[in-house]
Amino acid sequence: MLKIKRIGILTSGGDSPGMNAAIRAVVRTGINNDLEVYGIMSGYQGLIKNEIARMETSSVANIIQRGGTILKSARSEDFKTKEGREKALNNLKKHKIDALVVIGGDGTFTGADIFSREHDIPMIGLPGTIDNDLYGTDFTIGYDTALNNVVMATDKIRDTAIAHNRLFLIEVMGRDAGFIALRSGIAAGAEDILIPETKTYISELISKLKQSRRKNKMSGIIIVSEGDDAGGAYDIADKIKESYPEYEIRVTILGHIQRGGPPSCADRVLASRLGYEAVRALLKGRSGVMVGEIDNKIVYTPFENAVKQHHKINKPLLEMARVLSI
Ligand code: ATP
Repeated sequence: MLKIKRIGILTSGGDSPGMNAAIRAVVRTGINNDLEVYGIMSGYQGLIKNEIARMETSSVANIIQRGGTILKSARSEDFKTKEGREKALNNLKKHKIDALVVIGGDGTFTGADIFSREHDIPMIGLPGTIDNDLYGTDFTIGYDTALNNVVMATDKIRDTAIAHNRLFLIEVMGRDAGFIALRSGIAAGAEDILIPETKTYISELISKLKQSRRKNKMSGIIIVSEGDDAGGAYDIADKIKESYPEYEIRVTILGHIQRGGPPSCADRVLASRLGYEAVRALLKGRSGVMVGEIDNKIVYTPFENAVKQHHKINKPLLEMARVLSI
């Protein structure tokens, strides 16, 4: 087995709060195990362009509390080509880097799977995405912070909704998965939560709203995943207005504010633990897996499974949210 002496680390795909805490954990665990650690800028694109620099323990000082990623993140079309990956390999060789830790989402792991098989490079992945849509971990790094951002924003919007007797549709991130909408909607006491995993019937929504009015509930909040099958928040608002014109409706798209700001305590701890375990996994000879946490235990999931299998939404929680919001 190859004795690993130098490892590289990169962040790729959409940034997520907690990536810095994970970088810090990888760098410091590596150095603690007598490894040299190299930071690769801007994901796979930086690997192709040879934007690689040695990191020391001081390189990651004062970053655990910062959102974004000090290594920057990017999407790289070049890495999807064999020529691009050849360049990446040559740059790894130039720096004598033996193994890589990549932090990102399913695209990042697809790239890692291809690259590690093609060139026999040990690679470990860490789940860094606010969407929580990866199989093989209860929570992804950044999800909890995004939830807190949504809940804080929704609490503020509720004040104005109540003051003006308005219905607010708040659109949150989640093109393919409703994890952000479901959990934040429960925590914010939303009147309804619309997610891609379940069919949305506008007629049911309207009768529910009318019922609420009869109970003197004059305002409301509906959390909408951007990937809901009835369309985005604006489309749904138009559909409600068509048959319920007397209800005053406003739409707020929370957008990128959801993934900014300091990571939550839960994200910092998760990122630290997974970063630490990623280096230990490499040293134990593991490769081609994502490190996750399930029921508080460390779990290794092959990249292929992390990408292809689906993290299932907890539908009973949606039922519960609907009971509690009457
Ligand atoms: P997020 O969940 O935030 O979107 P992600 O990791 O899924 O994160 P992507 O943009 O899908 O983000 O993927 C990140 C990068 O992974 C791509 O820009 C590309 O460099 C690499 N990648 C994705 N798919 C492939 C592939 N089929 N072959 C090689 N590399 C890939």
